[in-house]
Amino acid sequence: MPDSKPLAIGQNGMPVIIFGAASVGQAIFHACREAGITVDAFCDNNANLARERRFDLEIIPARDLKRRFPEADIIISCADIADVVRQLEEMGYSRWHPCTELLRNFDIYPYSYLKPHDFVAHTVAAALLCQDSYTTPDKLFLRCVDLMITEKCSMKCKDCANLMQYYENPVNDDTAEMLRSIDRFCSVVDEVNEMRVLGGEAFMNKDAHIIIKRLIDVPKVKKVVVYSNATIVPNKEQMAAMRSSKVLFFITDYGSLSRNRDRLIKELESNQITYISSPASNWTDCGQIYEHHRTEEEQKHIFGTCCVKNIFTIAGNLLFHCPFSANAYRLHAVPDFKGDYVDFSRSDISVKHELVQFVRHKEYIDSCDFCNGRTHGNPEIVPGIQTLVTLKYEKYAH
Ligand code: SF4
Ligand code: SF4
Repeated sequence: MPDSKPLAIGQNGMPVIIFGAASVGQAIFHACREAGITVDAFCDNNANLARERRFDLEIIPARDLKRRFPEADIIISCADIADVVRQLEEMGYSRWHPCTELLRNFDIYPYSYLKPHDFVAHTVAAALLCQDSYTTPDKLFLRCVDLMITEKCSMKCKDCANLMQYYENPVNDDTAEMLRSIDRFCSVVDEVNEMRVLGGEAFMNKDAHIIIKRLIDVPKVKKVVVYSNATIVPNKEQMAAMRSSKVLFFITDYGSLSRNRDRLIKELESNQITYISSPASNWTDCGQIYEHHRTEEEQKHIFGTCCVKNIFTIAGNLLFHCPFSANAYRLHAVPDFKGDYVDFSRSDISVKHELVQFVRHKEYIDSCDFCNGRTHGNPEIVPGIQTLVTLKYEKYAH
């Protein structure tokens, strides 16, 4: 690790760049200002952000950074720091810095951001935890794990990245099996920063609160994020089960389709459950399933640049690298690629080793060849367009 003391950043006239222009990057900007560090620009893998500015600074696409700033002190905001370090070193930069020293004791609340303060606090905490864990590589630490508790959704978005538009007879996952799966998974890993409970629409599963409560009770899980499209208001018992400082309720706001949004927010507020409501945005065309016949190099590229490749997803007793891979497997929309998941239901010691290899060392998964990919900067599409029919796809025997 290079010297990460904030005071070493920007010395001798070295330009200072913040890598990542989202909430954590914005917090770093404020922390730099408080520490007397002048930031020269932001940089981001999402080239679409080049149209915007942050605090009157430009956001340089990563591909242009070396041309603009051949040398720089680069402060990394991303939780997935290993990916960014690899990227920067390939670009020829050695003066990179984690954001931990700057943000560890920094009070984010007095400053302005594009997102609500609670959300910023949540992402900063995640970045700190993830970047700290980078220095303890023997631990099996996961930043983010999706727990899919139902295939059912109260909406049918034709471009759903989780592929709900393809389920002909969607079902809820069995609660008892899911609780066993949580216990088993948490007995193998060392820490999960954030477990995200979702479907489909999580509350299509009437037992959602039982599963959420189990996650709240597991100390290794630091945060439980519940996703909802605000069509269903959880009942009293369900709300009570979610009353915990570990819970963050995330509402994706689809405008008039999120018909119970106001009522849901009222209930969340009266139960003192922290929530964020954010419009559906930044959708790209990643809900299609077909074989692309990419070369191995192309597979590595599509995986390497994918923004959800580390949104690990639990479906049953299997851990997948991303929601697309998990749902494509469940739908039989891809062949049974054995290397695309780890079955963690075994009780032998090799499971942890297998998970470490899977989490840290995959260069791509075979399912990527059936996916359009989710590269930052891909053209955006209109989110939440509904389809009345279940979409068709080619099925493979498993
Ligand atoms: S609301 Fe739309 S995007 Fe969200 S899970 Fe349901 S179908 Fe998918
Ligand atoms: S490109 Fe690969 S890792 Fe990314 S969403 Fe598609 S299947 Fe998952």
